[in-house]
Amino acid sequence: MKAEIVAVGTELLMGETQDTNSSWLGTRLPELGLELEWVTIVGDDIGRLTEALERAWGRSGVIITIGGLGPTLDDVTRDAIAKMLGEEMSVAPELKTWLEENFSRRNIRPMPQSNLRQARMIPSATAILNAMGTAPSWWIERDGKILVTLPGPPRELMNMWTTEVVPRLKERLPGQAIVSRTFKTIGLSEAALDELVRDVYDIPGMDLGVYTKPDGIHVRAIAKAPVEAEAVRVLERAEAAIRSALGAYIWGTGEESPPEKVGELLRERGYTLAVVESCTGGMLGAAITDVPGASDYFVGGTIAYTTGLKLMAGVPSEVIDGSGAVSAETAQAMASAACTTYGADCGIGVTGVAGPGDVDGIKAGTVFIGVAVPGSAGVEPYAFPSRRPLVRGRAVTAALLQLTRALQRP
Ligand code: ATP
Repeated sequence: MKAEIVAVGTELLMGETQDTNSSWLGTRLPELGLELEWVTIVGDDIGRLTEALERAWGRSGVIITIGGLGPTLDDVTRDAIAKMLGEEMSVAPELKTWLEENFSRRNIRPMPQSNLRQARMIPSATAILNAMGTAPSWWIERDGKILVTLPGPPRELMNMWTTEVVPRLKERLPGQAIVSRTFKTIGLSEAALDELVRDVYDIPGMDLGVYTKPDGIHVRAIAKAPVEAEAVRVLERAEAAIRSALGAYIWGTGEESPPEKVGELLRERGYTLAVVESCTGGMLGAAITDVPGASDYFVGGTIAYTTGLKLMAGVPSEVIDGSGAVSAETAQAMASAACTTYGADCGIGVTGVAGPGDVDGIKAGTVFIGVAVPGSAGVEPYAFPSRRPLVRGRAVTAALLQLTRALQRP
């Protein structure tokens, strides 16, 4: 079934607000067997919105509008839908009561007259109440098509989608079981990875998505079949093929995150951690402290960007003089310094060239990561794609995964 999104709001066209809602929905439609074919952004203009809706109604089975449900005159989504379908709007008494109660709970009495606009309905719509805001949504089924209006504020949209819209869509869409799994990799380029998993694309009932993310490349396998058991079998077959093709490049699945994994292992072992980071400029510390409760194991560290600060953090000057600031030896010494200077059991040192240009003959994207844990120390070289944000993001993930492996070693 073909789906289409119409995102409403002049602020989206002007670039003041990014249309993150459509992207968020876009990742969730395939699981329902819906193929998103069009996303249209339209300003708060009834003429152009009606035109966009007419086009959507003509070519798509499921139409999702976003925004424009507020109480003011420039919130025209309801008006445009009524016009497109040729139906009359009238105030629904039960919605009026619901809105009035909503306002009186918030001690706003009487309800502003303009909010009555939000209580209007057309005959073919039923209301979906918004648990997080005032704008009720419309659920419309007519001529074999479904149209649903979602509120613009992302929190409201996500909540309404998950709790109200998905169950309704599942009931109506032709029986299809869909299961999916995401495999997270590091160390391969997108093209190399795509090449390795080529055969998986040919498994019947299998859809594969390859996505570049700050923490590496994700492969999402989506299996579809008439019944769940069959979809699970397809997914298992795909998983075996993906694991055999990508092997050790896979560091996790689903919602797993490297900082959480590191936190778990450190806590289990009762170890503390400190960092001395250069080219990641604090991103490593930020990632570690993103996890609630990180103070149980994270001591802190230094952003040792200059040679002077590396020396102050405890890196011996002969190491930097002998091998250079961007070298395996310095990364190793930074990891040891993190332990000794800050009194931690484990240390990470990161030094590299974030790019875009090469520095002193060292290629952009070259990063050395040293890791020290009780009883062992190691350093690894990396050659990341030379775009600065990617180098830094990947270096953070690589550092955390390197520590994970070191902690897991018997
Ligand atoms: P309200 O009742 O709060 O006015 P609404 O359904 O009318 O909700 P809009 O007024 O269109 O929604 O948008 C409200 C806010 O939601 C916008 O200011 C914007 O911050 C956010 N928003 C709207 N559309 C999008 C979108 N497509 N992606 C991300 N954010 C959005």
